[in-house]
Amino acid sequence: MKFVSFQVGDRQTYGVKRDARIVELAGLHGLPQDLLGGIEEGEGFLQKVKRVLQDDSAEPRSYSHNEIKWLSPLPKVKRNIMCVGKNYRDHAIEMGGEQDIPKDIMIFTKATNTVVGHEETVLHHGEMTEQLDYEGELAVVIGKRGKGISLEDALEYVFGYTILNDITARNLQKKHGQFFIGKSLDTTCPIGPYLVTKDEVVDPQNLKITTRVNDEIRQSSNTSEMIFNIPTIISTLSKGMTLEPGDIIATGTPAGVGKGFKPPLFLKKGDRVVIEIESLGILTNQLQA
Ligand code: MG
Repeated sequence: MKFVSFQVGDRQTYGVKRDARIVELAGLHGLPQDLLGGIEEGEGFLQKVKRVLQDDSAEPRSYSHNEIKWLSPLPKVKRNIMCVGKNYRDHAIEMGGEQDIPKDIMIFTKATNTVVGHEETVLHHGEMTEQLDYEGELAVVIGKRGKGISLEDALEYVFGYTILNDITARNLQKKHGQFFIGKSLDTTCPIGPYLVTKDEVVDPQNLKITTRVNDEIRQSSNTSEMIFNIPTIISTLSKGMTLEPGDIIATGTPAGVGKGFKPPLFLKKGDRVVIEIESLGILTNQLQA
């Protein structure tokens, strides 16, 4: 299933994509009011959704894509978004050469209030940075609580997958030593458009990933190129830290970020960033003009 969180008028709600429409689910036949509530309910939630969709008497409301404002599938994130750094060999090399290829997983976080949805405007932050950069990434959403998760069991803890743009102010990332400020400016974490349940993703480690800026291809790779795969990331993170339903983990970006070009191709006012991942859809965001 492809879940969507969205806004109609002043009302925030969620639903699921069915053909060309989005069927609203919030509160229907005892379903939770938001998608995070559903993920927290665990296995039973997806069964309930299936039953509601098959029940002809349920008559849920549905909307076309242009009747809604897209939100991030999880508009309110419980804690910082966990991100893997330099997880594609060619990206590590473009950032600092062979010596930048990590031997252990590198993890940083983005603040929760960076999150925006598909087609939402990204602020330019021109007073702080002229080095705003895109990073197209596959993101994992955790589906159940776990600690000390083994490599073998790791994918059982996944609810689904989505697309995430880890937008970064390169000057602030470098200046402040730790990445937090450079990764946490408001609106610098577009997520969506869908949260796709794991049963619809045959092999998350074999998905084409492409980033275009104003129709020009900048990143073109495959999730098979990750240095640390998804089970390794989940297992490593959960060794001493409990993972919670709704946790978001961004798995790193391939080569072709703006900083990697000579001269660099940082984002400019009005630029349109389009990230496509096979099976997951297309995430589009435009910079403030
Ligand atoms: Mg990143």
